[in-house]
Amino acid sequence: MATELRLIHTIAELRSALAGPLRPAFVPTMGKLHEGHLALVREARRHGRPVVTSIFVNRLQFLPHEDFDRYPRTLARDVELLRGTGCDLVFAPDEAELYPEPQVFKVAPPPALADILEGEFRPGFFTGVCTVVLKLFECVQPAVAVFGRKDYQQLQVVHAMARQFALPVEVIGMPTVREADGLAMSSRNDYLSADERRDALALPAALRRLAGCAREPAGVAPLERELLQGLAGRGWGPDYLTLRRRRDLQPPSEAERLGGEPLVALGAARLGTTRLIDNVEC
Ligand code: AMP
Repeated sequence: MATELRLIHTIAELRSALAGPLRPAFVPTMGKLHEGHLALVREARRHGRPVVTSIFVNRLQFLPHEDFDRYPRTLARDVELLRGTGCDLVFAPDEAELYPEPQVFKVAPPPALADILEGEFRPGFFTGVCTVVLKLFECVQPAVAVFGRKDYQQLQVVHAMARQFALPVEVIGMPTVREADGLAMSSRNDYLSADERRDALALPAALRRLAGCAREPAGVAPLERELLQGLAGRGWGPDYLTLRRRRDLQPPSEAERLGGEPLVALGAARLGTTRLIDNVEC
């Protein structure tokens, strides 16, 4: 059954709507919602608290040449999708509301975590993410915040920020929701042409292969290179495809790799003008 859902655009209105005794469970998004986002909202619902979903395309986390301008903005459709998931409030500020003046105070995450992988190819990305997440947390004051493991490094960075600043929020990471054929759901999948959509499966396939060979005694460095070259050979622009420790996203030692250290195969690659990321735990 459809729930009463309020669409709120200002911080003042949000604060007064959340004035009750229970701090909310919160799902931050950039919109163009799909089942992956809705799974986070359903998880948020389980906590017996008001549920807030934010929809805000955060300019601070895009480089000048990236897709900020063409990022899909589908607020009316997103609100309809959220009805019936148990979401109570949609917070959809415009830029002038969240950044009424240039956001010159920023959260600088540690380079060891934030300048590798995504951060190497998108410099400043995690500063933009941390800054908006902290600001949204200040607006929403959540007791629980739900993120997707699809953005594996982002989840790590947000966890670390919450811990280091003693933020009174429990950060929860949810599994990646995939299309029936295995492609991780993403707002950016809509950019893909029909041919690219078919070829997009090569990224999760490469990651599954790397994850499947993670414990091979011979090592994975040659396979990482082979898979990267394989994607490049099919016309992709691969950024990275690599096996890391889950706990800090650093490369595992041989002893860790063979000794059962929890690992994750992470990859990012451009297909045409679309950049896809994915990961497989192993
Ligand atoms: P975005 O709107 O892309 O910024 O994503 C908002 C939140 O949804 C982030 O915590 C993402 O990790 C999460 N998310 C995006 N895609 C998926 C997916 N396919 N499965 C699970 N969570 C996802």
